[in-house]
Amino acid sequence: MRASYYHKNKQDSIVCDLCFRHCSIHNNESGFCRVRRNLNDEIISSWLGKFCARAVDPIEKKPLYHWKPNSYIYSLGSIGCNMNCQFCQNHKISWPPEPEKIYCKAFTAHELIQDIRECELDSIAFTYNEPTLQAEYICSIYDSMHENNIDIVLVTNGMMSKLAAKDLSRVTSAANIDLKAFDSKVYSSLGGSLETVKANIITFINKGVHVELTSLIVPGINDNREEFDSMIEWIANISRDIPLHVTRYFPARDYHKPPTDIELLYSLTQIARSKLHNVHTGNI
Ligand code: SF4
Repeated sequence: MRASYYHKNKQDSIVCDLCFRHCSIHNNESGFCRVRRNLNDEIISSWLGKFCARAVDPIEKKPLYHWKPNSYIYSLGSIGCNMNCQFCQNHKISWPPEPEKIYCKAFTAHELIQDIRECELDSIAFTYNEPTLQAEYICSIYDSMHENNIDIVLVTNGMMSKLAAKDLSRVTSAANIDLKAFDSKVYSSLGGSLETVKANIITFINKGVHVELTSLIVPGINDNREEFDSMIEWIANISRDIPLHVTRYFPARDYHKPPTDIELLYSLTQIARSKLHNVHTGNI
């Protein structure tokens, strides 16, 4: 399917404008995420509107604790990610060795609505992998979802470009956004950008999206007390009411340190609670 976030540059390549990376992609090559490809001077994504994971989850699993509590949500995941965390808990679909070998099913908006209604639900989450990579599809189904009173939810790393953040925040009712660290170098080492996620959190909040944040505490990556203090200060300066999930890491992919110490997790939760009204410990 043809994508829409790109422009031609002068050096015989195309720049993908979907996320903060703005990859410059030559003909027949892919960008960093491997799902966006330059085919004859157009960016295409074979996975737009196609999904490999489908489930009905409690809303608290996203995690969203302050939006439609005790409800269930229709959840879809696809292939790919624009970050590359060595501890990715969903790497089998975010960074599969051979993405084209994973079975994905295409869904029209009509099929989704039928499915969601059959499950007696009223919301849909784009989750499990990075939903930014489905931006055109999510925007394209919004009108149909809206007419049927179905809310769209994103579980995202918040690394979309300014333009995609503007478009996605317009069609999203609630989002859980990862705040993976509060140090620019650490963010870069994970393949992301601290400034981008900060800007996009503010964009989503200003657009009226219900936003909850997740901080996965990973030993040796972001378990530094001073960094955590600065992060809490930054969130509190936007609003003390923003819910924060302080969650426990477990070894995954290429990162093998033991799970986050429970005492540390509770102590960081207490620190966060001194400034924020809604802090939850998760994955314990
Ligand atoms: S979505 Fe991001 S990572 Fe993928 S090609 Fe576009 S700019 Fe690069």
